[in-house]
Amino acid sequence: MKTETSTMKELVQEKWAKRPLIISGPCSAETEEQVLETATRLANTGKVDMLRAGIWKPRTKPGMFEGIGVKGLPWLLKAKQVTGLPTTVEVATAKHVEDALQFDVDVLWIGARTTVNPFSVQEVADALRGVDIPVLIKNPINADLELWSGGIERLQKVGVKQIGMIHRGFANYGNTEYRNAPMWHLPIEMKRRFPGMLLICDPSHIGGRRDILQAIAQQSINLDFDGLMIESHIDPDHAWSDAKQQITPERLAEMLGDLVWRSENTDKEEFITALSTLREQINHIDDELLALIGQRMKVADKIGQYKKDNNITILQTNRWNDILEKAFAKGDKLGLSKDFISKYFDAIHLESINHQNKVMNS
Ligand code: PEP
Ligand code: MN
Repeated sequence: MKTETSTMKELVQEKWAKRPLIISGPCSAETEEQVLETATRLANTGKVDMLRAGIWKPRTKPGMFEGIGVKGLPWLLKAKQVTGLPTTVEVATAKHVEDALQFDVDVLWIGARTTVNPFSVQEVADALRGVDIPVLIKNPINADLELWSGGIERLQKVGVKQIGMIHRGFANYGNTEYRNAPMWHLPIEMKRRFPGMLLICDPSHIGGRRDILQAIAQQSINLDFDGLMIESHIDPDHAWSDAKQQITPERLAEMLGDLVWRSENTDKEEFITALSTLREQINHIDDELLALIGQRMKVADKIGQYKKDNNITILQTNRWNDILEKAFAKGDKLGLSKDFISKYFDAIHLESINHQNKVMNS
């Protein structure tokens, strides 16, 4: 006969493999009633796979709500028993791991403020030696992929077998549309580094506000993420933490229903043929672009030689401003953003300067 624990372990395995994997629940566990009601309403939507709740909250300033602590763990256990939803909790210390395991939390996650600190990640990893539990690791607050990769490697080293990544965006200085800038190229690079590893998006902490959650979630689906972690609360406006970004379980269900789910592949003949023709075109164009850039650098070499012979500096600011202004205008007509033109020309210019430097120094 199966014990309750073994069937829960199987359910967790099933959920871990499910696409999309949807995790939701309050930013923080506040009261027993709040946890139970949130869990029940989430379960009733039929669209949520796991229940999240912060028990220990790393807050920026003292005096902010720092989490209910161990007292909240039995509430989560009860919510699991009532709804059948596996639970997940953020851990930042060895003691957190010990407490969470004591109360049968099913999946652990490492928060952004912990991933930045190798000492803390190692402490959590050491506490997980020989423990068979899936662990999710959020990106560090700062845009440093080595820290994120390093955290994953620390978990791998102690033998954690199921590791997943959560993209929650990166802190930026000053006001932007986002609470944490998504910098989508960074999670994409992580997908390349850790092929096949679960990657989910946390639109709540990227957006920081309700009105852009759906657009962020959709963007992550378009980029082939494996699931979502979204904060939900029975009374979002009065949440004890992150009130601006939480939504009700019912609003979550509506949002999940409105998202367009995409898969990475299809076996539809027509699509496959059309896509491969277009990709051929892209490959040719890329080849041509590279060949042209190569030619451009050969011209730069010649210019370098002339400048060297005549003792002229490599950089002439006026000439450079001139090139940029013309490129912005042309790019605009071609549907290329100013931001792209500026990054593209910076890269080309730098390479050109390097070429000329080499000539000058030879
Ligand atoms: C959270 O998930 O509530 C949280 C604290 O997130 P992060 O670690 O991404 O800031
Ligand atoms: Mn939060």
